Amino acid sequence: ATPTAVMVGTGVGASQGVLIKGGRALESAHKVNCIVFDKTGTLTAGKPVVVNTKLLTNMVLREFYELVAAAEVNSEHPLAKAIVEYAKKFREDEENPAWPEARDFISITGHGVKATVRNKEILVGNKNLMFDHNIAIPADAKDILVEAEGMAQTGILVAINGELVGVLAISDPLKPGAEEVISILKSMKIRSIMVTGDNWGTANSIAREVGIETVIAEAKPEQKAERVKDLQASGYTVAMVGDGINDSPALVAADVGMAIGAGTDIAIEAADIVLMKSNLEDVITAIDLSRKTFSRIR
Ligand code: ADP
Ligand code: MG
Repeated sequence: ATPTAVMVGTGVGASQGVLIKGGRALESAHKVNCIVFDKTGTLTAGKPVVVNTKLLTNMVLREFYELVAAAEVNSEHPLAKAIVEYAKKFREDEENPAWPEARDFISITGHGVKATVRNKEILVGNKNLMFDHNIAIPADAKDILVEAEGMAQTGILVAINGELVGVLAISDPLKPGAEEVISILKSMKIRSIMVTGDNWGTANSIAREVGIETVIAEAKPEQKAERVKDLQASGYTVAMVGDGINDSPALVAADVGMAIGAGTDIAIEAADIVLMKSNLEDVITAIDLSRKTFSRIR
């Protein structure tokens, strides 16, 4: 393609909300034959909501959510935001919930949070978090987790003073049109793969809903990047689509990194292409534009 064609292609992209950072990014996109999608905030809307709470002791919901929210209000994680939002329902003044003070707050990436509230040690997170703190997960809690995961929800465990006391189910539905995008990519001979830090059960359920066959779950940020490199080593030209800080290493490793416009600044900086409207269809827009610019029309 001539420099003029590249300029035109980049310009057309910009006018459609597909920000292409330079000619090399536009060129690489037409060779892509495998796309790695992040789950949360990329395939899903990224606006999780609490849909269910199961308490395993005689603790009341109001007290339970007061302690959980006091811990989670210190976390930036979307799941934490969903939990705090839901917990407000149990406060007298929802606008001004005035959570009790949390001491010794720590956030454990990919696992959850820990804090001391009202002299109680609160843990909120996944199975790994409980395992690392030697918290036993009773059979009924395991059943609730499996059930939630089967419905594509994320189950979050809560322990207080070393005892598992509750399970929350959080739902984050697919973005509208996600399924169609995956099926169009398939017809374009492009393979789609999902990587996520979330658990295997939820990940597999979401993948089934969207029509993705290959899933990598419980992946740390470096592992997301490693999977991209593995695919490249087996001959694929790989695009990565993601929105989070935890996707940045993979966005950099990919032949083409595409960031969701509504995502974090760090992901947007790491990417070669930014999908300003945060629509998944624009993954196809970008590839089409590149194909039109770089494949000779016969
Ligand atoms: P993703 O790739 O889906 O964005 P993360 O790596 O951020 O996932 O988190 C993985 C998992 O760790 C979450 O699904 C959740 O189980 C747990 N987790 C992380 N942060 C929190 C938190 N603040 N509260 C509860 N659970 C959390
Ligand atoms: Mg994400």
